[in-house]
Amino acid sequence: MRVPDTIAAVKGFRDVLPDESRRWRALEEAAERVFARYGFGEIRLPVVERTELFARSLGETTDIVEKEMYSFADRDETGLTLRPEATAGVVRAYLESGLAQSDPSARLFYRGPMFRRERPQRGRYRQFYQIGAEVLGRDDPLADAELLVMLDRYLAGVGARATRLELNSVGDRVCRPVYRERLREFGRAHLAGLCPDCHRRLERNPLRMLDCKVESCQEIMARAPVVADSLCEGCRAHLAQVRALLEQERVDYTMNPRLVRGLDYYCRTAFEVVADGLGAQNAVGGGGRYDGLVAALGGPDIAGVGFALAARAVGPALALATRLRDGGLAVGLEPEGRSLKALLRTADRRHARLAVILGEEELEAGRATVRDLVRHQDRRQFLPLDASGPELVRSVQAMIGGGE
Ligand SMILES: [Zn+2]
Ligand SMILES: [Zn+2]
Repeated sequence: MRVPDTIAAVKGFRDVLPDESRRWRALEEAAERVFARYGFGEIRLPVVERTELFARSLGETTDIVEKEMYSFADRDETGLTLRPEATAGVVRAYLESGLAQSDPSARLFYRGPMFRRERPQRGRYRQFYQIGAEVLGRDDPLADAELLVMLDRYLAGVGARATRLELNSVGDRVCRPVYRERLREFGRAHLAGLCPDCHRRLERNPLRMLDCKVESCQEIMARAPVVADSLCEGCRAHLAQVRALLEQERVDYTMNPRLVRGLDYYCRTAFEVVADGLGAQNAVGGGGRYDGLVAALGGPDIAGVGFALAARAVGPALALATRLRDGGLAVGLEPEGRSLKALLRTADRRHARLAVILGEEELEAGRATVRDLVRHQDRRQFLPLDASGPELVRSVQAMIGGGE
């Protein structure tokens, strides 16, 4: 008698059993809780997209697009791909759904499986899971800093102590071409030691030589010029402000001048969490491009507070927002450069309960003005800028609940 062969899972794919899925759920719940304080709402995306979406957004010459995607022709010959990452899909949805008009600075987070046909190695799977967050429509350093503060709080909250945040700037449209040319020159000088793929990359997209997986290439590229030395003035100023805000909020990070993300769409701030403490490295992925505008999303039992900033106020505003968020409140931060009326309209659209205004006058007085957006009270209310986190949270709760 012959016992039929059993069918095993596909190589590189696996099951997640209850002991592990329980831990994953804890990570997801913490993300929902922490991200809400920063104004993020969840977007659920399809796992299948048109192949051209990734070819265009990730870059035709990236390893992902060239070698690692699960692509197939649908029955009507449409080229489809199992998503290798989610940012491209987020941006597609943002445009397709009209959010780009109705909520240009949307803050969206996602979770779910991604698919890449990488060489199987321990702890890496071809279907892996990511939690990520995207801020759209903003390019100011405050947005980057806020995302990194959020990431820091999230990682601390889930007990991922053995994580390290590494930061770099990868330049922008102004200075990247300069760097690209320097890399090309370097590559030409070391041509003999580079693999055939890198020979091709040298002409088409020399940045991709930096993430070549061939060992001899890695040895050579470890001596290549770093992007940090080619940054333009705008990129330097941006990075300096991000760093100053992180230091103000006591976020630990290290600069890694060799950090370049493996995708073409990154601009300026790039970061990685080196996450030994999270166990499976595919449990959490994060961040991505960070520019977008802020506003509060009041969940059912959390208050919303909106911010308006004036020029000198970016640091104090982030400090105030961090203390309120650490106390469990959802806070949106609006950058300077728009009228108070426009800012209040945004706060209203996000169903913010209160607006906290921090202008020149307030900085001078050492206290922020608070407007009640629901009761429209005339009585002026204030928050002292030097109050402790718990004091601030108590004051805000009294303003929301009290209203005597
Ligand atoms: Zn190579
Ligand atoms: Zn630049």
